Amino acid sequence: MPQAVVIATGNAGKVSEFCAILKDSAFSFLASKDIGFFKEIEENADTFKGNAEMKARAVFEYTSSKDEYKDHWVIADDSGLEVESLEGRPGVFSARYAGENATAVERYSKLLKEMEGKTNRNARFVCCLCLIVPGNEPEFFEGECKGKILTEPQGTSGFGYDPVFVPDGYTGSFGCMSEEEKNILSHRGRAIKNMMTKLKSKGGSI
Ligand code: IMP
Repeated sequence: MPQAVVIATGNAGKVSEFCAILKDSAFSFLASKDIGFFKEIEENADTFKGNAEMKARAVFEYTSSKDEYKDHWVIADDSGLEVESLEGRPGVFSARYAGENATAVERYSKLLKEMEGKTNRNARFVCCLCLIVPGNEPEFFEGECKGKILTEPQGTSGFGYDPVFVPDGYTGSFGCMSEEEKNILSHRGRAIKNMMTKLKSKGGSI
């Protein structure tokens, strides 16, 4: 039986990337909504790590209270975009940068507006994963992807700020890439790779 893992997020883009990256692993994935968890988790920590832990613990508290889910592992991802010329903003506020109910287009349009006239376009995507395996302390894994902010959106793939971010060494944005291409170099892809390396070194059959 594959080990069941709950991905503690309501973001369909993140779930899709996790499933694609780990498709050959010995895990089966469920999103929070698949186990009936719909609660909005407050993300009020000031670090990616703090928010990832908050999300993972909230879902783990739920899974461990239900007989059918109590053996499930939980993974939460907190991620965002840090822009050098904006002193690291939007950072941990990436999801709420243009207000709670803003669309991705509104968020990246606000970013492009703030970046008007700025010559330093350096930025990085950051991802922190928190993994909770029942009976163990939470573990954390990080990944980053450096790149540049465009002056106009490019492409329609992916989610969030993908159309305005070009990873270093590439000419097209994440929004122009297939999911497979993005996953090889993305912050999330790298954090997941770090997690798998650690799990394998512990002798897990993954
Ligand atoms: P949170 O981790 O759910 O707080 O949300 C992070 C926010 O950062 C997302 O809603 C996106 O706006 C942005 N973000 C995180 N990862 C990515 C990515 O891979 N591509 C584009 N935007 C991302």
